[in-house]
Amino acid sequence: MTFFKLTGKGKDVGGLSVTRLLPQAKRRSIGAWCFLDHAGPAEAAEMQVGAHPHTNLATFTWMLNGEVWHADSLGSRQCVRPGEINLMVAGTGNARGISHTEQSAPGAPLHAVQLWIALPTAQDIAPAFHHYPELPAWESDGVRHILLTGDYQGRRAPTAQFSPLLGVDLRADRDASLTIAIEKNWEYGVLVIDGEVRIDDEVFHADELAFIACERADFRIEAAAGSHFLLLGGEPLAQPVLMWWNFVADSCEALRQAVADWNRGHPRFGSVGWQGETLPRLPAPEMPGG
Ligand code: MN
Repeated sequence: MTFFKLTGKGKDVGGLSVTRLLPQAKRRSIGAWCFLDHAGPAEAAEMQVGAHPHTNLATFTWMLNGEVWHADSLGSRQCVRPGEINLMVAGTGNARGISHTEQSAPGAPLHAVQLWIALPTAQDIAPAFHHYPELPAWESDGVRHILLTGDYQGRRAPTAQFSPLLGVDLRADRDASLTIAIEKNWEYGVLVIDGEVRIDDEVFHADELAFIACERADFRIEAAAGSHFLLLGGEPLAQPVLMWWNFVADSCEALRQAVADWNRGHPRFGSVGWQGETLPRLPAPEMPGG
């Protein structure tokens, strides 16, 4: 069994303090989940992220408090509120991409989890935007479940997937014990948002992430009353997942191409029409040579 604790690093995203859990040197990804930021909770935040591109990934925003306005180069304009998911798909390949802006209301509370999902580059996937205002929610054994993506306990989320994935938001109203069935060859993560959970005698607190990959049939989570945590899982992609800035690709050449294309204004990324003028377009940093 491979099992260890990851702690995050503080970052600034458009003026908002976040804790970045993935990627990091010790662990790049969990299945196709290749980026994980826990943003807030903040009582009075302001996030203004100017137009920036993505490639070969889907951005997955799970809102816990406050609201964020999303606008993208497909013409989508959508506010995401607590209990809702925004899923933006950049599409695959060197001819495709997407760009978007993200803005929160100044001085309002903000609490969210922002994930990226690496797309399987062997699949021909077009850019798309999806908003999911309603997700399967149920209570069992003192734990409130919201299914964000995938299949769990006989429920299925409506969220689009491109490789097998699981995401579940869990809140324990009292001390609770959960048994998580392991899918063959999947990797799992448990991110604590609030409170305390115990996995295999190791205790995890807020902004700590457990990574689990093993041959066993299941693993157990002991959740303390009041704890709030996210269960993530997925099958690793059958390709290299390389990242630079806001780009994912399966080769260095494709990453270099994306940097050059964005900085030269290539039409593959379109433009963000709505309020695009009021936010700066963010330039891509050059990749180091070699
Ligand atoms: Mn983005």
